[in-house]
Amino acid sequence: MDIKSVGVVGAGTMGNGIAHVLARSGFSVVLCDVEQRFLVRALDTITINLHREAHKKKISAEDNAAALKRITPVTERAKLADCDFIVEAATEKFEIKTEIFRDLDRLARPEVILASNTSSISITKLAALTKRPEKVIGMHFFNPVPVMKLVEVIRGLATSQETFSETRNLALQLDKTPVEVNDAPGFVSNRVLMPLLNEAMYAVMEGVATPEAVDEVFKLGMAHPMGPLTLADFIGLDVCLDIMRVLHDGLGDPKYRPCPLLIKMVDAGWLGRKSGRGFYKY
Ligand code: NAD
Repeated sequence: MDIKSVGVVGAGTMGNGIAHVLARSGFSVVLCDVEQRFLVRALDTITINLHREAHKKKISAEDNAAALKRITPVTERAKLADCDFIVEAATEKFEIKTEIFRDLDRLARPEVILASNTSSISITKLAALTKRPEKVIGMHFFNPVPVMKLVEVIRGLATSQETFSETRNLALQLDKTPVEVNDAPGFVSNRVLMPLLNEAMYAVMEGVATPEAVDEVFKLGMAHPMGPLTLADFIGLDVCLDIMRVLHDGLGDPKYRPCPLLIKMVDAGWLGRKSGRGFYKY
């Protein structure tokens, strides 16, 4: 299908980034959230980020203005009915995504692909909520979306080859690098990253080293731009815990059990950067 107009559901951290790269690449974007204030916040963020790109000469001032004009913010989901492709990037709660996928299935044309940016929910399960499971796929962008090249393109059990190829092509049109992954808890990114962060927390909990020392080992010894505990604080310790639970429940292997220190810190409300305290103070 010739994709011209793309719907984005959810205008938070990821949704605004996805709308940004779509508009920058020439697509018309219908950006949908539940309240006007979230759309205003998203458009402000996109405006600032596009200006930054124009300042760095990555995009001309004219293209910048044209990109912004391609984004239509809406609170009524029915306005997504004419979109040729839809990416869902709403809050990571299965009940929320269930309602959205059922509704999108009802309102979008039957040939339209419904993609989810979920970090941890099963694509196969989301697909099964619809009457078009072959047209449901994972399109997992990374934060910050305008900067990060990777898109994990996740095949659910029923996803068709055609859906996979169209989604892969869309990612390429956005100047991203798609990597093919099959549906499994945590996909590849979180399946491999989160146990690393969790193990770093065990090292701190057991007194093997301080957070600073653990992070130095990874920055200087493995050339990671950010140590695992700084990264965990950046992602949010509550998000890390949720993902460890998805891995633990989904894979059933005790090696994925969340570190007790992580659970304790989340219980204390120490969620990392966003709450002002995590492994470090902000
Ligand atoms: P966020 O909290 O910043 O934004 C979520 C947005 O969804 C909010 O604006 C909220 O109002 C909106 N929303 C909630 N219910 C809605 C509904 N019914 N219809 C329309 N909009 C609705 O969250 P985020 O970090 O942008 O995450 C969004 C998705 O992207 C999640 O599935 C998350 O797992 C995934 N993800 C996040 C990251 C990350 O680093 N933040 C990275 C990759 C993937």
